[in-house]
Amino acid sequence: MTCDNDQMTSLPLVFDAPKRGRPPTHFADLDRAGRVAALAELGLPRFRADQLARQYYSRLNGDVEEMTDLPASARPGVRDKLFPQLLTPVRHIACDDGSTRKTLWRLHDGTLLESVLMRYTDRNTLCISSQAGCGMACPFCATGQGGLDRNLSTAEIVDQVRAAARALRDGELGEPGRLSNVVFMGMGEPLANYKRVVGAVRQITSPAPDGLGISARHVTVSTVGLAPSIRRLADEGLSVTLAVSLHTPDDELRDTLVPVNNRWSVAEVLEAARYYADKTGRRVSIEYALIRDVNDQPWRADMLGEKLRKALGPLVHVNLIPLNPTPGSEWDASPKPVEREFVRRVRAKGVSCTVRDTRGQEIAAACGQLAAEER
Ligand code: SF4
Repeated sequence: MTCDNDQMTSLPLVFDAPKRGRPPTHFADLDRAGRVAALAELGLPRFRADQLARQYYSRLNGDVEEMTDLPASARPGVRDKLFPQLLTPVRHIACDDGSTRKTLWRLHDGTLLESVLMRYTDRNTLCISSQAGCGMACPFCATGQGGLDRNLSTAEIVDQVRAAARALRDGELGEPGRLSNVVFMGMGEPLANYKRVVGAVRQITSPAPDGLGISARHVTVSTVGLAPSIRRLADEGLSVTLAVSLHTPDDELRDTLVPVNNRWSVAEVLEAARYYADKTGRRVSIEYALIRDVNDQPWRADMLGEKLRKALGPLVHVNLIPLNPTPGSEWDASPKPVEREFVRRVRAKGVSCTVRDTRGQEIAAACGQLAAEER
């Protein structure tokens, strides 16, 4: 993907000195009882909770001043208690002739995060962050180099989706459209922020007016392989797609490439993935960033195909991601002939395998790059 700096839009920065800390409570952090209780403290009746839900999830309004069915006198209290501004856009970068837009957001405490909106002919996909930074320390990843700033709240996750759905609806990326897919492949390890991510998934997938109404089948939660959390997710009764960032089929290299492998080995991760596939009936996606001379050897392709066929049978698909190197990094993408041979060998083991298009590449392999540059 080529990002044209001429299309970069800088927005005014609205923040004081960064203060890391808990985000203010937002409507999307509360269940119905919590919303009704908060409204009661403002002297407002319970039916206002449903009215606010319709405004937020159906009409995609995050600013109380736009909620015109709420009495003007009630709006300041409701804004302060339930609708603080969580995300302030710092910069939009348009790429791919405007069909991709990467947004850098600043949170209330100065923390930076990113989300990326991509338009395709048959779908509109948003890639969101679940943590500010990431503590998983994968050496090829820009986000991993900066460490974890903090977990995002449920509302900070949901509001990335609401904002994108609204931008699409309002034609900010060309013809007005509808957000159809959400992938948790931005900054952070989603399953390391388990409760808030699951809470956000429920709101993203619940039908309006209780949620944003995106089909669970079109929501992908990715993980580097926190095996117990994969099993727990399988038991939630959500039909989201699970994507496991494997990156190599052998423990020796994976201990270095994905340091959490020292805790849960490849075999343990694949067993948990099998449990997920059996429990949900969903095919698991295996993410594999192909890195020149590191994990792209023919014997690794054979081993990958073999292990996946044994562990998951037909319930697996391999997504090869040509690495998008981060600035100053020693890692590089594999040459195309090597990539083609890798695909051929994995398929020869009976495992479906494709190369992700370049827009996906930018997102998965260079997540955190924009935030890193801003810092
Ligand atoms: S690749 Fe993913 S899990 Fe690894 S450090 Fe980067 S954001 Fe975290």
